Amino acid sequence: MVTVQDATARILQALYTPRIESIPLAQTNGRVLAEKITADRDLPPFDRATMDGIAIAYDAWREGWRTFLLQGTQAAGMPAQRLSTSIEAFEIMTGAILPDGTDTVVRYEDVSISDGSATITADLLERGQNIHYRGSDARLDSLLLEPGLILSSAEVAVLASTGKSFVNVFAPPRAAVVSTGDELVDVDETPLPHQVRRSNGYALVAALEALHVNASLSHLPDDKDVLQAKLHDLVEINDVIILSGGVSKGKFDFVPEVLESLGVARHFHQVSQRPGKPFWFGASAGGKTVFALPGNPVSTFLCFLRYVKPWLLQSLGVQTAPAYAVLARPFSFPPRVTYFLQVSVRNEQGRLMAYPDAGGGSGDFANLKNVTGFLELPLEQTQFQAGEVFPYWPFRG
Ligand code: AMP
Ligand code: MG
Repeated sequence: MVTVQDATARILQALYTPRIESIPLAQTNGRVLAEKITADRDLPPFDRATMDGIAIAYDAWREGWRTFLLQGTQAAGMPAQRLSTSIEAFEIMTGAILPDGTDTVVRYEDVSISDGSATITADLLERGQNIHYRGSDARLDSLLLEPGLILSSAEVAVLASTGKSFVNVFAPPRAAVVSTGDELVDVDETPLPHQVRRSNGYALVAALEALHVNASLSHLPDDKDVLQAKLHDLVEINDVIILSGGVSKGKFDFVPEVLESLGVARHFHQVSQRPGKPFWFGASAGGKTVFALPGNPVSTFLCFLRYVKPWLLQSLGVQTAPAYAVLARPFSFPPRVTYFLQVSVRNEQGRLMAYPDAGGGSGDFANLKNVTGFLELPLEQTQFQAGEVFPYWPFRG
């Protein structure tokens, strides 16, 4: 038996090394960047007007000129034109390059235009106003994005602007989800009175899919020989196997011994936590990782969220900051184990307040629909006061 902290440490010592793949820019949302992105030009690449108006030479205005002859229009997308004399001006559009000889943009709102001339009506101008200067956001070759970043629409814009039509991202692991149990039938079957439909495998596949991992799904009986043969093959062709069920003390819980016989070394078995105490974790010499999660649906769900997901993200180099929430009501849990309390979190004036909704135990997966995550209540404590802050493991926003 290990503590939650020990289990976490051992899992994070067994990270896998992801491959790198190059994918089209349009498919990068949510993927993890595997290369450094540097600016291929200054950002912005030229002195850019930020307002529609006129571009002038500031010194002319400072010397008293107020009415400027309009020499032409500098539209976005046109190469820079040149101001002939400083008593002239260009009309200029947002996004246009500043014409040579000008250094200040006066917006249309501060100008009155008639007969080919523009008169500045504003009382005060500043040299360089309404210009987004070349290189002011980033210099050529400066670092914009680093590996380990989960790409979102914001980064997609940066990738596009630096000309990355293909992007190196970390490939997800080859993953297999395996549920076990002779009492379980598939979703489209009609269960007999002593049977239940299996749900863990589908939940795990969905949870992985949300992390861009496409896992295979299979179900195996509580039969040592079948488990041995099938798990042997699955360990061969995958980077990670996530099992549910068959890891407790039951007469037909063969998963740990079968895995060990296949050369998957046990890193721990049983964690002082509830739910999910029977959790088994191991790895093969060839770097294959196996999470054998207890079959009770809430245990499977919690163990994925608390252990598998962080393992996956850290393997991909993603820096994750722990989340915390405030216990909103007192709670008592006498057993000396870490308790993962189901809670519904509400943001109240900037504080994440966690309202306990413990549900009916590790088999009561229907309660998960009422809550937003788990509060990790440490094993040293048995009474938890309202206002205390604990690690929070959300599974929805
Ligand atoms: P086990 O860990 O195999 O002892 O299973 C513990 C409990 O979880 C039993 O009541 C199982 O029927 C249930 N269970 C195991 N696997 C699944 C599954 N895939 N879907 C739904 N319930 C399951
Ligand atoms: Mg079972």
